[in-house]
Formats: sequence, C-alpha cells, structure tokens
Amino acid sequence: MKIICDWENCNETGAYKAPIEKDNSKKYRLLCLTHIKIFNKNWNYFENMNDQEIEFFIKSDLTWHKSTKTFGSSDNFFNILWNNALDDKLNIFQSSNFRDFKKTKVSQQDRDALQVMELNEEVKWEQIQSKFKELVKKYHPDKNQGNKKFEDKLKKITLAYSQLKKTLGKK
Ligand SMILES: [Zn+2]
Repeated sequence: MKIICDWENCNETGAYKAPIEKDNSKKYRLLCLTHIKIFNKNWNYFENMNDQEIEFFIKSDLTWHKSTKTFGSSDNFFNILWNNALDDKLNIFQSSNFRDFKKTKVSQQDRDALQVMELNEEVKWEQIQSKFKELVKKYHPDKNQGNKKFEDKLKKITLAYSQLKKTLGKK
C-alpha cells in the first residue's frame, strides 16, 4: 500500500515523518521529500514558545530525559529536530542556505547564543554546525552517566543552536 504525502494537493509517496505537535507525543504525518524539506526549513522548535515555556523546556525532564535511551528513535518531536540537525541527509542546513553575521548589529540573544556555544561573531555557519556536533558529543547524558547537569547544558546548547539557525538561515 502506498502512503500518500499529507501535504495539500500532493500525490507523491509520503516517506518522511513530520511531527504534528510540540510535545513528546508520537503523532506525526508523512510527507514526500519536497514537502519534508519545506516543513523542516520553516520549522523552529522554539519559535512559538514564550520565555517561560522555553525555560520550562530547559528545566523539564519531559523531553530530554526520557529520550536519551531511545536516541536513535525518530518517533518524537525533539528526536526529529535532533536527527535533522545532526544528520542533515536532506541538506536542510547546507551552508548556502545560511548567511554570516553582520558585525555591527548582532542582537543580545545572538550574543548569548554564541557565548553558550563558545563561539564569536566571526563564525561561519559550517563552524557553528561542527561546534554543535562537538558539544553534543561532549555533553550527551548517555556519555555522562545520565548526569542532570549535562542534560541542562545540552538543552541550552540546543536552544542556542536553534537561535543561531533562526538568525542566520535565509528566509
Ligand atoms: Zn508532498
């Protein structure tokens, strides 16, 4: 049986998972390659969250804590974000889709994000990506006996990465 892409008026095969809700539920819809690319490009995990919700995300166990053991699973929202960011088989984050910082006007949020990721404003998108991967390896809870301190650190890094992606990604 062929599963059809869930995008409106599309009849291609739906082979890629796109989460429906920003929680840990396993609800997703299946999209074709073209539409999963559009979905992923427009999608920012933290985009519609207010500061309080982001803070909650950073502090809560609900997303990160429970997903570490099933790290390879792409069944929940955060894991899908995660897999997209790390693997990028769909070339969503290829450097031609990103610009550099304009030195004169870097926002405070971006400054904070760069600081969390131990980077400066000279950085290119490729370097942000490789630094992200490096930090993920360093702070992954599975490599640190599930230490809560490292979980929080890694959430902050992921948040910072997401912030920089939003700023530098071309619309
Ligand atoms: Zn489609």
